[in-house]
Amino acid sequence: MPKQIIISGIDVAPGESKQVNLNIASLPSRTPIDIPVNIFRSEEDGPTVLLMAGMHGDELNGVEAIRQMIAKKMLKPKKGSIIAIPLLNVYGFLHFSRQVPDGKDVNRSFPGSKTGSLASRVAYCFMKEIFPHVDYAIDFHTGGGSISNYPQIRCSFDVPKVKELASVFATHFVMNAKLRDKSLRKEFTKSKKVMLVYEGGEALRLQEFAVKSAIRGAMNVLSFLSVIDKAQNTDNKPIIINEDLWIRARSAGLFRTDIRNGSRIKKGDIIGSITDPYGEYKTSVKSSHDGYIVAVNHQPVVNQGDALIHIGIE
Ligand SMILES: [Zn+2]
Repeated sequence: MPKQIIISGIDVAPGESKQVNLNIASLPSRTPIDIPVNIFRSEEDGPTVLLMAGMHGDELNGVEAIRQMIAKKMLKPKKGSIIAIPLLNVYGFLHFSRQVPDGKDVNRSFPGSKTGSLASRVAYCFMKEIFPHVDYAIDFHTGGGSISNYPQIRCSFDVPKVKELASVFATHFVMNAKLRDKSLRKEFTKSKKVMLVYEGGEALRLQEFAVKSAIRGAMNVLSFLSVIDKAQNTDNKPIIINEDLWIRARSAGLFRTDIRNGSRIKKGDIIGSITDPYGEYKTSVKSSHDGYIVAVNHQPVVNQGDALIHIGIE
């Protein structure tokens, strides 16, 4: 028998589709902050898959990907249920910011607390209302700051079920990523549920390559789990990245690169340069390893030690 899904006191029966608002708190102006949650249910029993984005409020490619999937009516399950949350951190979205207004990161605040800081209240509300219903989740992110991530899934290779689903998503890279304390992914792992973190593009941009890859991956996962009736698009065989490292700035100045994100590089290849702003100094930046470029920093003004290029090693 299909399970019961009650969110914010609203019962969504099998075969129904509803939008439910999660009320977190209010803005100082008294404007309530609601998080719209879309629930799409089939009559037939099956897994519940969560698609969510905007946990970091300035990371918009995933918001756009879920928006398009809803607008194009791509989330009609033939089996099980789909819960779609296009924007979890409304506060950050309004402030073009990763965090909530007190500077805390929702993804470092799980499982949250009813009476804690705002970030911790958002986490608590999610854990109470959404988490218990979910079997599988895809959480859509972009690089933080001015880092542009080439489309990639981050997951823990220690859990075979998770690694398998990451390959099914079939984006460019699958990266082994350690669990971070107080992250949502850690809560999923503790409960033996499967969660993939997608990273594509950079914050405060809408980038078609990252949005398309997010949608294709979500459809691949939903179809693999037999939740939707669509052939998988698995032309992409992801490159498996076991280790990763950052090439950092050895001197401060202006960083420039015309290296192609996602491309293969060899140890010793010149991947950019750093100059002073006055035409007196120039040094080249070289790769320290063979590997793939999985992310590039697009902020040209750098201090010593700043992350420039993220390299993934197969
Ligand atoms: Zn993020």
